[in-house]
Amino acid sequence: MRMSGNGHHKVTARHLARSAYLYVRQSTMRQVVENTESTERQYALRQRAIALGWPSDGVIVIDSDLGQSGASAVDREGFQKLVAEVGMGRAGIVLGLEVSRLARNSADWHRLLEICALTDTLILDEDGIYDPSHFNDRLLLGLKGTMSEAELHVLRARLRGGLINKARRGELRCRLPIGFVYDAQVRVVLDPDKQVQESVRLLFDTFFRTGAAHATIKSFRKQGILFPTRLHGGTRSGDLVWGPLSLGRLVSILHSPWFAGAYSFGRSRWRKQPGGGTRHEALPPNEWLAFIRDAHPAYITWDQYVQTQQRLRDSGKALHFDCSQSPPREGPALLQGRAVCGLCGSRMHVRYGSRRGQRIPNYVCVGRGRLFGDPLCQSIVGTQLDAAIGKLLVDAVTPMALQMTLAVQHELERRVDEADSLRHRQVERAQYEAELARQRYLHVDPGNRLVAESLEADWNARLRALDEARADYERQRAADRRVVDDDERRRILALAADFPAVWNDPNTPERERKRMLALLVEDVTVSKQHHVTAAVRFRGGATTILTLPRPLTAQQLRATRPEVRQQIDGLLDEYTDAQVAHILNERGLRTGADDAFDAVSVQWVRVTAKLPSLKERLLAAGMLTTRQLGEKLGVKRSTIGRWRAQGLVESRICNELGEWLYWPPKQTPPHRRSPTKRPAKSPEGRSPVRGAV
Ligand SMILES: [Zn+2]
Repeated sequence: MRMSGNGHHKVTARHLARSAYLYVRQSTMRQVVENTESTERQYALRQRAIALGWPSDGVIVIDSDLGQSGASAVDREGFQKLVAEVGMGRAGIVLGLEVSRLARNSADWHRLLEICALTDTLILDEDGIYDPSHFNDRLLLGLKGTMSEAELHVLRARLRGGLINKARRGELRCRLPIGFVYDAQVRVVLDPDKQVQESVRLLFDTFFRTGAAHATIKSFRKQGILFPTRLHGGTRSGDLVWGPLSLGRLVSILHSPWFAGAYSFGRSRWRKQPGGGTRHEALPPNEWLAFIRDAHPAYITWDQYVQTQQRLRDSGKALHFDCSQSPPREGPALLQGRAVCGLCGSRMHVRYGSRRGQRIPNYVCVGRGRLFGDPLCQSIVGTQLDAAIGKLLVDAVTPMALQMTLAVQHELERRVDEADSLRHRQVERAQYEAELARQRYLHVDPGNRLVAESLEADWNARLRALDEARADYERQRAADRRVVDDDERRRILALAADFPAVWNDPNTPERERKRMLALLVEDVTVSKQHHVTAAVRFRGGATTILTLPRPLTAQQLRATRPEVRQQIDGLLDEYTDAQVAHILNERGLRTGADDAFDAVSVQWVRVTAKLPSLKERLLAAGMLTTRQLGEKLGVKRSTIGRWRAQGLVESRICNELGEWLYWPPKQTPPHRRSPTKRPAKSPEGRSPVRGAV
C-alpha cells in the first residue's frame, strides 16, 4: 500500500495529545474462542501506536463487542462508544485490525469516517495510516467498507443458496416436529415411541371432533393429558418432556404440513426492521422455499390438512382479542378495559347479563383459560362495584380538587422514576443471563461440538433477549414521558372543578363517565374472595382499596327481605305455609320478586332460610304422628281416626296435605291391659285422652 511506508508524517503533536483507541472486535463467537491469534494481532497494533509516539497508557482498548455478531451498529455498544469518543474529539487515532472490520455495514462505516474527518482523527490498520480528511485516504477506506459489505452479502447468499438447493430436493435435515424422527438412513419416520404417536393422533382427533382449537386444549386439560416435547440441543438432547398443551403449540402443529406427510421448508422468515431489530413472519404457501407432498408417513390426510387450515382461518379472529386498549364503548360497565384480575393479573373482560330487563355488567377473568383451557379465573357482578367506584371518585375529587391535580403531577413524576428503575432491572437481569451464557460457552470443551453449539445458540438467544429487553425499556420510557401532556392537564383541572355535578347528572352518557374515569384512574385490580376488594390506582400512583361485600347472586337478589323472613319464622309456629301466605298477603307484603305470596313461595323461603316447618315445630314440641301414636298405644290407624272424629284425642292439622298430629295421652287408662300383651286388641270406645277437646 502507498501509505504504509510514509504514514509517520500524518501523525502530528495534536494527534499525540489525544488518546489512541484500539477497537477490538470479533464477528462470531466461535472466533472469540478459536481465533485467539487474530486477537493477538489486534493487540499488536497497540505496539504500533506506541511506536508512533503514543504513551502506553494513552492507548484505550474498546473490546466490549467481543462475541456479539452484528450486521448493524444498533446492537453494538462498543462501536457506538468509539463513535462517541471520536465525535467528542478525544481520539487522535483509531486502531483496528482490518479497518473494514470496524463496522460491518458501510452506513456505520461512512459515518465514522466522516466524524474522523471532522475531528481530525487518524485511522491505523495493518496496512498503514489513513487520514480521513484527505480525499485519497478516504476513498480507499470507503472502498474497503463497501468491499466488506459486499463480501458479507456474497457469503450469506452462497451459504443460503446451498441450503435452499438441499431443501428443494427435500434433503435438508431440519428440526422435526413432534411425532417424527430420522431413522438410521436419515429418512423421516413416525416417532417409534407409541405414546408420542398416540398423543399426536389424540390431538388431531380431538380437533376434528370439537372443531375448535380452544376446545381441544380444554379437553386435554380436563382429562389431565400432557403433551410431549423432544428436547433439542443440550446434554438431554432427544429426551422427552411432558407438559400441558398450549394454544400456541396446538396451532403451530395444526398449521404444519409435515403431519399430512409433506416436506416443507422456509414457511416463514426473519424480516429486518427499521429500528435494527428483526421480526418473524409467516409466508403464504406459494412463497415457501420448498414443498414436497407425500414425502414421509403422515398422521392426517392432505384433505384433512386443507380443511384444518380453512377452519383455523375462520376462527382466527376469535383467537386474537384484546380489549385493554379499546376506546370506551357504550354500555354500563364503568371499568371496561380498566379492570385487572387480582388473582392472576390478566385484563378482565366485560360480559353483559340481564336481570329484570336491565343490562348487568359482569367482570370476567378468563385467566389461563384461553391458552390452556383452564376454567374461568373469576367473575364478578359489576353493578355494586361500579357504584362504589363512582362514589369514590365523587368523594375523592370534590373536597380537594386542586390538591389532587397537584398531587397527580407529583405522583406521576415519582411513578415514572419508580417504574423506570423497576423496568431497568429487567434489562440488568437479561444482561446477567447473557453473561452467564457466555461464561458457560467459554468453559465448554470446544471438542464437544454438540454441546458447544447448543450453548452458542443459547448465548445468541440471550443476546437477542437482552436486545429486546433494552428495546422494551426504551419504548416504555418514551411512553412514560408522554403520560400527561398539557392538554390532558387542562382537562384534569377542568374536571376537578365540577366533577361531582357532571358525574351525578343522569343525562351524562355512560361513555362520558368512562372517559372521566379514564382521566383519573389508571386501573382497578379486583379480586373476589370472602369480600370483593378493588384496588383503585389513580393516575399518578395513589392507590385506594375498597372492600365490598360479595355481590348477591341472582338467587339471593330474588330472596325475600330479612324482615319478611322474620315474620314468616314467627307465623310458622302456629300456621301452615298456605295460612302464612294468606296472612302475609293481608299484611300487604311481597316476595323478593315482587309477587304475592302463596304456599309454594313460603315453602321456598322456608327451605332456603332453613326454617323448620309447622310440622317439625309441633313434633319438636312433643306431638306425635298417627303412626307414632298407634305404635305407642298399640292401636290401628283407623281407631285413632275414630277417636279423633269423636273428639277423644287432642289433635291438629299440620300442613296442606292434611296430615294430623296428636298430643300423647297423659296416662294410660288403668283398666286397659298392657299393650305388650295384647298389642292388636285395645278396647274400643275407651278414651286414652289426656283431656277433653
Ligand atoms: Zn384471573
